[in-house]
Amino acid sequence: MELKGISLIGFSDGHRGTGFNAVNPATGVALEPHFSYASTEEINAAVRLATEAFPIYSALPGAKKAEFLRHIASGLEANVTSLVERAQLETALPIPRLKSEVWRTSGQLRMFAEVVQEGSWVNARIDAPDPERKPLPKPDVRSMLRPLGPVVVFGASNFPFAFSVAGGDTASALAGGNPVVVKAHLAHPGAGELVGQIVRESVLACGLPQGVFSLLYGAGEGIGIQLVEHPSIKAVGFTGSHAGGKALMHLAASRPEPIPCYAEMGSTNPVFILPKVFKQKSKEIATALYGSFTLGSGQFCTKPGLVFMPQAEETQVFRSELTHLVQESSQQVLLTAGISDKYSRAVEDRRADKMTQLVATSKPAEKHGSSVAVTLFATESETFQQEKSLEAEVFGPSTLLIEYRDYSELLKIASNLEGHLTATLLGTEEELVACSDLVKILETKVGRLLFNGYPTGVEVCHAMVHGGPYPATSDGRSTSVGSQAIFRFVRPVCFQNFPDSMLPDELKSNNPLNILRMMDGVMRK
Ligand code: NAP
Repeated sequence: MELKGISLIGFSDGHRGTGFNAVNPATGVALEPHFSYASTEEINAAVRLATEAFPIYSALPGAKKAEFLRHIASGLEANVTSLVERAQLETALPIPRLKSEVWRTSGQLRMFAEVVQEGSWVNARIDAPDPERKPLPKPDVRSMLRPLGPVVVFGASNFPFAFSVAGGDTASALAGGNPVVVKAHLAHPGAGELVGQIVRESVLACGLPQGVFSLLYGAGEGIGIQLVEHPSIKAVGFTGSHAGGKALMHLAASRPEPIPCYAEMGSTNPVFILPKVFKQKSKEIATALYGSFTLGSGQFCTKPGLVFMPQAEETQVFRSELTHLVQESSQQVLLTAGISDKYSRAVEDRRADKMTQLVATSKPAEKHGSSVAVTLFATESETFQQEKSLEAEVFGPSTLLIEYRDYSELLKIASNLEGHLTATLLGTEEELVACSDLVKILETKVGRLLFNGYPTGVEVCHAMVHGGPYPATSDGRSTSVGSQAIFRFVRPVCFQNFPDSMLPDELKSNNPLNILRMMDGVMRK
């Protein structure tokens, strides 16, 4: 595949003009080719094509959408080497990580293909009529989930595949029957275009209308805003920073016709270490925790950024082990110069303020490209409770240690936490049982609770919840990972007293698709 450096507007190529070059974050050197920004006409054309494609694409049977999703997955799998090569240049992420991310992305598409082919996900419900009912006859009422319309997707910097052009938001929106317009992330435009070409080829090969997919280049505050404000766009999927997510949430809500904006933003993912396990495994926990907060150079929304540990003798063993690991670590390259500057500023602020102490930092080294030091900070539990800003995400390889006095203080801390994606408990099973109050509190604060594991690494499966109350996401009732992500881009539609011939197959009386449906309140085929 050859990179063209242009937007993909349905089957047409965007114009060549003003734009930018990707930068290799390991060296700071610009990469070829030059990428051109989409013009306003091109943005409008992409949305118009998506709007025209909607009635055709949304009416396709599940099997046809499954064929399309599998075609994209096969295209990704067949091009792993070139995709990874380009993404590595643009992100400096390690090759094995990028390879597994491509497979995760194709696996995600295949999972949605299974779901839509099987078909029961539409939540079909049928209430039989009763013309004899007194005092009023009961109508024939049937409902199912239907797609929303064209969806705009904003990919993230830190997942060039799994949360980008053909990532989770795109896969779930397409699976639900919605055309997608992607606003490419400027941190990995080449990887984005290669994936975009694969999706475009799949649209063509499956005989779908061209507007099912477009990929546009441009700054978020330019084309991103234009897309979200466009009256034909019906929903937004976003993965990125708090600032970006909040701006788009407000924009989506303040349109003349407000639309849903599913923003998956950052999180600090508190970890609670309970006393007994600490006594037994303080060194082991230090090693595993270090691995988790430095994984991907700490650039995961699930990075453990707050570690609560008991005031105990073992805390010193734990601290010195973690200190040693951090001091021995090398500098880590972050995704972009912007992310590296933001991290360095956050670290400087922490070093300068009186609220935190710098416990350790990695070996000093000459700065290359976007490289930064790994840092370990600590603060007092009282300070943490008084200073809300200490709960904010520092995106990069840094974490904050907090010693708690006792269980009652832990409960107080947990009660005052804001929404996060995950919370982790490290302890014995006995301790967990004794901590049921803490678990109950944490259940109200996060989307995923882990016991004796680490939050980085999100399994793509049917039961996964990658979400959480605001500010972790814009809507804690949803997930952006796993098959339940499809429910973000659909809404229930009810058909009352419709003749069978006019009903979608999912709701016809003889159940031609043989799907699981709720018949008068009972689930059956
Ligand atoms: P970002 O700076 O918010 O960028 C994400 C996308 O949104 C980019 O395309 C960006 O466009 C656009 N954008 C940002 N601000 C905008 C605005 N005001 N108006 C319109 N568009 C805007 O985030 P990032 O640098 O990619 O990622 C880092 C952050 O993502 C971290 O905080 C991390 O925790 C979070 N993250 C969350 C998850 C999750 O699932 N919750 C996953 C991965 C990452 P331009 O940059 O082109 O202007």
